[in-house]
Amino acid sequence: MHEFSVAQQLVLAASQAVPRPELVREVGVRVGLLSGLVSESLAFGFEAAKQHSAIPQAVLKIQVAYRSGFCPACNLTFEHAHFWAPCPKCGSQDTQNQGGDDVQLAYLEVDE
Ligand SMILES: [Zn+2]
Repeated sequence: MHEFSVAQQLVLAASQAVPRPELVREVGVRVGLLSGLVSESLAFGFEAAKQHSAIPQAVLKIQVAYRSGFCPACNLTFEHAHFWAPCPKCGSQDTQNQGGDDVQLAYLEVDE
């Protein structure tokens, strides 16, 4: 189960990101649509992984991250959910596509 190891990495990263991890209330992550990860499985894995960690009370908030496309012809940046997409404005197939294929720690909310 790939999601579980990803969840363990997220718990570890969040635990090490702040001086007092026991105060971390919320962990925000951006899950790329192309990452192949199932959000429900990731949330489940996070619940398990946090139990014996430094952030047992943290809640996971998942945001979906789209892939970003860029068309050099019309200087347009657009979001989509495919590995590759043509420009929605001029139809050019010469687009550059990136992101949306990984998991990133987006933010941490810490109690004062
Ligand atoms: Zn274009």
